[in-house]
Amino acid sequence: MIFVFKGLDQHKPSINYYWFAFFILYQMKEPKKSKFPQVVIIGGGFGGLEVAKQLADKPVDVLMLDKHNYHTFQPLLYQVATGSLESESIAFSLRKNFASQKNFRFRIAEVSGVDMEKNIVSTDIGDVPYDYLVIATGSTTNFFGNKEIERYAMPMKSIPEALNLRYLILQNLEEASLKTTREEKEPYLSFVLVGAGPTGVELAGALAELRNHILTRDYPDLEKNHMKVYLVDFLPKVLGPFSDQGSKAAKKFLTDMGVEVLLNVKVESYNGEEIKFEGGKSIRTKNVIWSAGVMGVVPDGIGKDKIVGGNRISVDAINRVKGAENVFAIGDVAAMITEEMPKGHPGVAQVAIQQGALAGKNIMHLIKDEAVVPFKYRDKGSLATVGRNKAIADLGKIRFQGFFAWLIWMFVHLISLLGFRNKVIVFINWIGSYVTFNGGSRLIIRRFKREELPKKHTQEAKAD
Ligand SMILES: Cc1cc2nc3c(=O)[nH]c(=O)nc-3n(C[C@H](O)[C@H](O)[C@H](O)COP(=O)(O)OP(=O)(O)OC[C@H]3O[C@@H](n4cnc5c(N)ncnc54)[C@H](O)[C@@H]3O)c2cc1C
Repeated sequence: MIFVFKGLDQHKPSINYYWFAFFILYQMKEPKKSKFPQVVIIGGGFGGLEVAKQLADKPVDVLMLDKHNYHTFQPLLYQVATGSLESESIAFSLRKNFASQKNFRFRIAEVSGVDMEKNIVSTDIGDVPYDYLVIATGSTTNFFGNKEIERYAMPMKSIPEALNLRYLILQNLEEASLKTTREEKEPYLSFVLVGAGPTGVELAGALAELRNHILTRDYPDLEKNHMKVYLVDFLPKVLGPFSDQGSKAAKKFLTDMGVEVLLNVKVESYNGEEIKFEGGKSIRTKNVIWSAGVMGVVPDGIGKDKIVGGNRISVDAINRVKGAENVFAIGDVAAMITEEMPKGHPGVAQVAIQQGALAGKNIMHLIKDEAVVPFKYRDKGSLATVGRNKAIADLGKIRFQGFFAWLIWMFVHLISLLGFRNKVIVFINWIGSYVTFNGGSRLIIRRFKREELPKKHTQEAKAD
């Protein structure tokens, strides 16, 4: 730079002047177009991460789009909702995760649609072209079209939603301690979890532990037996996808902890004050948590003929969207219907991870004009925890419950968390909670207010 200014000061073109002009022209010219195909991945969840990892060091440009700049470890959302973990410890920056991957770029963007003829993704930051596209947008809560329940019940599919739930729980405990009679306190202290799958079971267990070990320490004005936790499902068993042995053990753990398990019970309505069930029973409650169903998050433009049960995108044996050459869908948003799997694969992390890894490989096979490899799911088994020393492990034909299953559950979740720091923080938190029976901070950082009118993803939009 010193030489350039010297040349300019002397008002006569020097060799440095030409270099300066060349530099300016170089800066102004169009950015060089990469010679590599662009692979766009929508979603930095379990599936999206795996596609990007698989494409590291390959001759492609990878662009990941996500509405959040972090990956969420959904299996521990319930601990964020009950205040035992901070939200940051189950999230990890997507940029940081791929900082050393040279062919990777990230943009925070909400995708609205896909034009599969023009090979363009529409987002709130503009249109993004692609050569290959992977849709890994996951799923959202399914209220089965019941707008009233959608307005008043709490979903828990993302960190903002888990935080909303935490604030609602804590605010209602605060409200309850202001009331004088048991009748006045009842709706604030009744927690109804709809859906007895792993999410409902884990949350019911965590709320029961909050009642059993923390309630009267934090809120001396409240009585333990005034707080009620109900787990409701219209199916005849808890943990539907687990073995009968695992399901029975989970139910026993829950009832021993004081959870009222209501099976074969269908929810009719919920107006924010009272939940009504078919057959006439009802519960006065301001806390209904809905984990009774999920549906795929499908961008516009996919075409109704490609959508199957659970609002999922129908894919072929290599996870390619039916009828498309260069568009893949993986994980919760995809449905690979086969004779073996007439309803598609279960909505679990392992399916998304394995489909993501294979989609990355198959994209490279397609680019190199090689034969593609069909997807074959390797089921590694299922784990769910109910509380301290209580978990269910269904690992193929090996099934056990209790303390050892709980140790395995903790180990598997710790190693699966992204980021060394997160693993350490979560581990220390768990040790602290185990020893003191009083883990977590349970702070209300901002108040949760329900919006008056429902809109798409209401709870999350409010939290964002
Ligand atoms: C509370 C809870 C507990 C669970 N527990 C377990 C468990 O114990 N074990 C297990 O195996 N599975 C569990 N699951 C299921 C598991 O988390 C999912 O199967 C898995 O996350 C699916 O991965 P995915 O990549 O398909 O989607 P996700 O991991 O959900 O990722 C989707 C990504 O897409 C992004 N996205 C969505 N829409 C858009 C858009 N329009 N624009 C831009 N970005 C978008 C999201 O921000 C997100 O980052 C649990 C799920 C929940 C909700």
